[in-house]
Amino acid sequence: MSEIKRELIKTVQQMCDAGLVLGTWGNISARQDDFFWITPSGMDYQLLTCQDLVKVDLASGKDEGRWKPSSEWRLHAAIYKKRPDCKAIVHTHSVYATAFASARAAVPPIVEEMAQVVGGSVEVAEYALAGSWQLAENAARALGSKTAVLLANHGLVGVGKNLSEALKVCQIVEKTAQIALLSRVLGPVYTLSADDIRKLRDFYLTAYGPKKDGEE
Ligand SMILES: [Zn+2]
Repeated sequence: MSEIKRELIKTVQQMCDAGLVLGTWGNISARQDDFFWITPSGMDYQLLTCQDLVKVDLASGKDEGRWKPSSEWRLHAAIYKKRPDCKAIVHTHSVYATAFASARAAVPPIVEEMAQVVGGSVEVAEYALAGSWQLAENAARALGSKTAVLLANHGLVGVGKNLSEALKVCQIVEKTAQIALLSRVLGPVYTLSADDIRKLRDFYLTAYGPKKDGEE
């Protein structure tokens, strides 16, 4: 059993524990060489084991495993193809991020953690049906060089150089979306300046080495 598969199962549990998942909506993948491992379609996450993960060839889309891959595997494939730096993807239908996605409004960079992990606002990809190649293309395009993108009327995608980073992106975007809605009740909301966002992002990328896990 490979380390990457164990890590993927652990991340699935963490995603559930963090309250980012309702039922079996949402999915996770991790890239290895020219293929990726992804959670299967429609399976109870609490029961998921390494044997249930599905291997998908990046070039052909051919899958291997005892179950069908998540119906959203095309979304993962399109992002891996466009972003060689991306080794893991977490996709959630979490409530606050999906509220922004349904309003087709970007999540603004109003808290420093989000500026650090995303490097700006989280934009909304043009709507297309779940599971379609069109959605996969729209999402990869709207993601650009950032680490998160919203799928219109659908949910959130976070990417990273590893699974814990991709999950962290989803958690921070979800939290920022919640804060954005709450702070609007109090009055005008102030977005961080482009200059400060760049400094925060640079600090995050250079000061947080792979051995320093944590943002404090
Ligand atoms: Zn979805």
